[in-house]
Amino acid sequence: MRATVPAAVEALAEKGTQASATDPAFQGPRAAGRYPGRVRAALLGLIPLPRARARTRRGVASPPITYVVEPPAAGSWTLRVEERIERAASPRLVAPELDADPPALVLVATGEARLLRRAGGAWLAPSCAERCTLRYQVDLQALASACRGFECPRRVGDALLGTAARWMVRPDVLDDATIHITAGGDHVARFATGLRRDGDGGYTLHGRELREASYTAIGGFRRAHVEFPGAALDVVFLGPPLQMGDEAVLAWIRRAAGCVASLYGRFPADATVFVVPVPRADRVVFGRVLSLAGASVLLLFGYQTPADAVGSDWVVVHELSHLGPPSFVGQGHWLEEGLATYYEPILRERSGWMRPEDLWGHFVREMPRGLRKRGEPPSLEERDEIDSTYWGGALFAPLASVRRSIEGGGAPH
Ligand SMILES: [Zn+2]
Repeated sequence: MRATVPAAVEALAEKGTQASATDPAFQGPRAAGRYPGRVRAALLGLIPLPRARARTRRGVASPPITYVVEPPAAGSWTLRVEERIERAASPRLVAPELDADPPALVLVATGEARLLRRAGGAWLAPSCAERCTLRYQVDLQALASACRGFECPRRVGDALLGTAARWMVRPDVLDDATIHITAGGDHVARFATGLRRDGDGGYTLHGRELREASYTAIGGFRRAHVEFPGAALDVVFLGPPLQMGDEAVLAWIRRAAGCVASLYGRFPADATVFVVPVPRADRVVFGRVLSLAGASVLLLFGYQTPADAVGSDWVVVHELSHLGPPSFVGQGHWLEEGLATYYEPILRERSGWMRPEDLWGHFVREMPRGLRKRGEPPSLEERDEIDSTYWGGALFAPLASVRRSIEGGGAPH
């Protein structure tokens, strides 16, 4: 018997957009939202950085917010940032992630630089309503050591890994402002991000995407590129190599990606994959996708994971399968996790990694977890717990297929 997937769900997946997903089942304690420690910053007003170029290609207006970030040289943890803001919707500039020890923010205007006053958790910069240029720097090491929890940026080997928004000073009202980021200076190779590429060597996102800004690494890491028909993966290895070695990890990811590609006819999206070693573990222990602003995948690999265990791992297939369906930020989390939960074992069975009887045994055993329990609301959207999100969502897929066939859509898939 060969497992197949519902046509209704495949039609959804064929939209080819990217998913955003979190896996709360694997999350550690969440960050308290503020960094209790320090973030060192210093006056940068007279330190030249690569100019934030206005982008006026074909008459398109400059993005309202432009960052040029200068990754530090090896041995240094100081990230230097030059930012230009145009038409700010608010004179208040904020950086919630840096509130515990905010950087010194320098406003650069014709021939002079002055520290901006900070009050009430914000810097006041009325000139940004028209146009302003700012400079600041962030101590990445302090940023990492000051924060606890899975959502925090963290030091991995010689790099800091976190989401792109962590170091961004921005107006407290962003609306849907376009944000543009480029890496500058002498060490641009020490910057890797899953943010959407702009085709001109930089990256772009919108203000509404900031809370799901892609994973970004700044510092020392190893890098590889995997091409598939229609898509490519940029793989960033952080920290020391696993026992199996980088090549074996690449082969692992390539096989899992091929598994996912069988669903869509091709691998669904370009993505940047960050591989983080986990000491004293012998399996893939966690994965997460952030892709609203460009696809990035975090994979926590046990340091002692054996290379031949790829067939028994479900995490990498689950995470990569998130790159097919659309994002459902703020709602529909049950659908994106349900689709991944449903497809992952099916795709592994299709690849010969699971026996059909084990696949169906898995579904029979686990899917009842998604059934509504006494006292729970009927809508999956309103049931905010893991079983409903993952297995309730997974149950939706075959039920949708059967409903579609009853209503004349052809035989169940
Ligand atoms: Zn997931």
